[in-house]
Amino acid sequence: MLYYDIMTNKIYVKRSRRKSVAIKIDNQGIITVFCPLTYPEIKIQQLISEKRNWILTHLKRINNDNCKNVDFLDYKKLLLGGIAYDITYDDNTIKIGDIAQIKNRKDGVSSLKKWLKKRAEDKLETALKHWASVMKLLYSEFFLTQARKKWGSCDNKKRIRLNFRLIMLPEDCINYVCIHELSHLLHLNHSKNFWNTVAKFMPNYKIIKKQMKDYSFILQLF
Ligand SMILES: [Zn+2]
Repeated sequence: MLYYDIMTNKIYVKRSRRKSVAIKIDNQGIITVFCPLTYPEIKIQQLISEKRNWILTHLKRINNDNCKNVDFLDYKKLLLGGIAYDITYDDNTIKIGDIAQIKNRKDGVSSLKKWLKKRAEDKLETALKHWASVMKLLYSEFFLTQARKKWGSCDNKKRIRLNFRLIMLPEDCINYVCIHELSHLLHLNHSKNFWNTVAKFMPNYKIIKKQMKDYSFILQLF
């Protein structure tokens, strides 16, 4: 995987056994060109310059979306269960709206992170246990993660990992991720049968799944 430094954005090139060429921009603004194994570099450069306007328009839209979240990115506000709380810092205490206070803080953001992780550990495991019993499924172990790209995962040893940042999302989103990962205990893929299992326990999952995209900036916090 190599990249071009075009404008200020890096463009990654991912070669595989595919036959066609495609450019994709994810919601963090990362640009990737997918192309066949032997696709010439000069052609990639041509494609990038042809698509320049399209790339710029996309990046601008993503930037605008991220600007809305600037208070969260500055840790002036914190989402908990999808509700925004003002954060105030004084010498010794961090106040999270009027719902919690963190005393004897050392560093603001890391104290906040520690507090969130502790809260996440209880709450996410409780949600996972609840859905495991509703769905009559057994997982082997639960771990809290701080992955940057994933809300959760399930491996072939039936271990389920949930991102501590999920605690910031509305209840529906937490439930969706629990149901999604538990459904992987039956289907270790995203096949039709997998989605049927998800739908059985969350008929409106498509709406929630779409909503989750609005929260993807949270994965960059802390
Ligand atoms: Zn999945």
